[in-house]
Amino acid sequence: MAKVYDRLDKDNGSWGWRGAIRDGRSKEEQDQLLNTVADCALSDKEDVWECLDGPNRKFTVGWMRKRIADKYQETKGKTRWCRWVPKKIRIFIWRLSRNRLPVKDNLERKGIQVNSRRCEMCKEEDETAMHTFHDCMIIKELWSKVKMWWSIQPPVPTCLEDLVEKMEIQAKSKTEKQLLFVVCAATLNQIWKNRNEAQFHNKGIQVNDMFLNVQKESALWIESRAYKVELEKLLWVNSPRLAVKTM
Ligand SMILES: [Zn+2]
Repeated sequence: MAKVYDRLDKDNGSWGWRGAIRDGRSKEEQDQLLNTVADCALSDKEDVWECLDGPNRKFTVGWMRKRIADKYQETKGKTRWCRWVPKKIRIFIWRLSRNRLPVKDNLERKGIQVNSRRCEMCKEEDETAMHTFHDCMIIKELWSKVKMWWSIQPPVPTCLEDLVEKMEIQAKSKTEKQLLFVVCAATLNQIWKNRNEAQFHNKGIQVNDMFLNVQKESALWIESRAYKVELEKLLWVNSPRLAVKTM
């Protein structure tokens, strides 16, 4: 197959097409193409891909992520991308912080009919994301167990994004900040799992079991994903700060 380059007479800049292009669609297309490359200066160097406004004209995933975040996301709240948490859970937290989970309130706003608006965990209030993940009295019990486990102040979130941030803000080091993010992510994940069990399989909520699962799951993620951290499992359940050593 001939390349465009092969059709170009390098000495006088004219094109060698099979037949002369005079008018009609071919002429229009040719003019458009010539316009596109009008500012190009050809050289004998190898072709390379360049990212015109990337750092040093290079493409990096981190740079592209920042560009997308700057251009398309709402200004408040940065995207959290802690590697100690599995990708699926990171996406779940991202959807939650932007209130994109299919809780009843969100479904109704999209015009989807729901049988009942009630939260299936407490059966007392309407189900919104804020209710499900924080305000529900059953879930408040779970959060207070998590707060006691880490001896931190109960955060009072004003929105879904605050929930994670107000936990992390109490960290005394970078490692602790990541640990609190993992714990927060495991708690939110347990809440969603149990909410779905209550919603679709009529299962009752056992706060104690949820809390034990938060401890188990967060330990598992740290052990398998935080390479420079050593975790003493027995200490983790009672004194989590003492259980973690950075290498
Ligand atoms: Zn509730």
